Amino acid sequence: MSLAYVLLGIISIKYATMSSGIAIAWLPNALLLSFFLIKDIKVWKYYIPFFIIAELVAGYSSFATIQSLQFAFINILETTFAAFFIKKFSGNYKTNFSSIRYVIVFFVIGIIIIPTFAGAFGALVYSTQIDFEAEFLELWRIWYFGDAVGILLITPFVIILRENYKSLKANIFNIEYLLIFILSIGLAIEIFSSTNLNLILPTTPLIFILILLWIVYKQGLLSGLILSLLISFISIYYTIQGLGPFPVFEDVETTIYLQEYIALFVIITIFFGTLLKEINNSKVELEDLNMTLEKKVEEKIKSLQEANEKLTLLASKDSLTNIYNRRSLDEFLLQETTKAKRYKNDLSLIILDIDHFKQTNDEFGHQVGDEVLIEMTKIISNNIRNSDVFGRWGGEEFLLLLPQTKKENGYDVAENIRKKIEYHKFKEVGKKTISLGVSTFNHKEDVFTFIKRADTAMYNAKKNGRNRVEF
Ligand code: GH3
Ligand code: MG
Ligand code: MG
Repeated sequence: MSLAYVLLGIISIKYATMSSGIAIAWLPNALLLSFFLIKDIKVWKYYIPFFIIAELVAGYSSFATIQSLQFAFINILETTFAAFFIKKFSGNYKTNFSSIRYVIVFFVIGIIIIPTFAGAFGALVYSTQIDFEAEFLELWRIWYFGDAVGILLITPFVIILRENYKSLKANIFNIEYLLIFILSIGLAIEIFSSTNLNLILPTTPLIFILILLWIVYKQGLLSGLILSLLISFISIYYTIQGLGPFPVFEDVETTIYLQEYIALFVIITIFFGTLLKEINNSKVELEDLNMTLEKKVEEKIKSLQEANEKLTLLASKDSLTNIYNRRSLDEFLLQETTKAKRYKNDLSLIILDIDHFKQTNDEFGHQVGDEVLIEMTKIISNNIRNSDVFGRWGGEEFLLLLPQTKKENGYDVAENIRKKIEYHKFKEVGKKTISLGVSTFNHKEDVFTFIKRADTAMYNAKKNGRNRVEF
């Protein structure tokens, strides 16, 4: 890491500095800043000594040790503050360039505010201790722009490279991608090394903005940043030699033109790439949300359907005996009599009532009476057909509706049930009997008379001694 720092320092001084000593892009700080942004704040302090040494080595040939130390101090302070505030103000946003908010925080703090301060201190050291032919304000501006351009070029690149290293490896052999790169580099050399631009190609350095937008759109921000780095280095390399469209009479002005140019396309690249990422991320988020929403709705519908089925079942059954209740019986009666009328089908009806049930309740208690009711419905349910409708008519009275059943068969069913009950031994209570009345639908009567006739028959069974079946 510190080796890279020294290297970037030497590169900045040797290859990115005008003959008058103005650095177009000061790169080491940018590397340190990306390093701090990636690492946790707790481990920063362990790396600081290495950077001081690196700074001394990098500045060895140009500055006295005391000045190098001051520069090191300014640079480390600048980087630390920048990294600290970027981390602080980007809040929960991770160190990445996938949200515009992060980019804005990064720009305002890392590119505008902190280098402005650092520039003032740097200019102070220069103007007081080094024999440099420039005014304080000019030195300030030079320092500021060098730092800002360096950070623009290196920091987002390092951070994004670290996160997207794998996708880069996958993309590097893409022929379209390579072709664009090679063509762009050729074009950059062509434009920036020419002495008189207009004569050679009717093109301008701004063409790279379009190329970069296209690369970012097709390949992502990392590819765009790599290309912008290459174009920057080519433009710096030739401009320093006095070639290309930027050199004017004054070194300072040339530098500013070039710095503005580099800053322009790097900023556009970063903003565009981040915007695309943000749009893409919200698309993915929206799709996820949609999916979970659909799933939730489906689940809700399913549970509602289940609840509905349960409710319907509940509403149709008697809660004690779990056979049909009075309401359902009314429906079945209407339904079956209508059917019988239309198709001229036989239909029989049995109404049955437990004999002396009051006694059972009085003797054994209501609870035991309930148990008898349950036990009895089970016996009867087991002795009828699936198509027969069995329900609780009220209290200890039950109703059986027998479709497709003639008078004699209806009687047989009733008699069979009577016997089954008579011979059954109920828990605690022992023997119980029932009285039954049977009627057969005559197709001209209504439901009420049909029921009434069974009821009367049952009443007759009671009258005639109970434990018997009557018509
Ligand atoms: P009968 O032979 O004339 O039918 O005599 P009974 O005592 O059975 O007379 P009735 O049919 O009029 O009696 C109905 C009794 O059934 C009254 C009530 O205490 C009892 N009963 C009605 N519903 C329930 C119930 O849900 N649980 C219990 N344990 N008893 C009930
Ligand atoms: Mg009774
Ligand atoms: Mg009764």
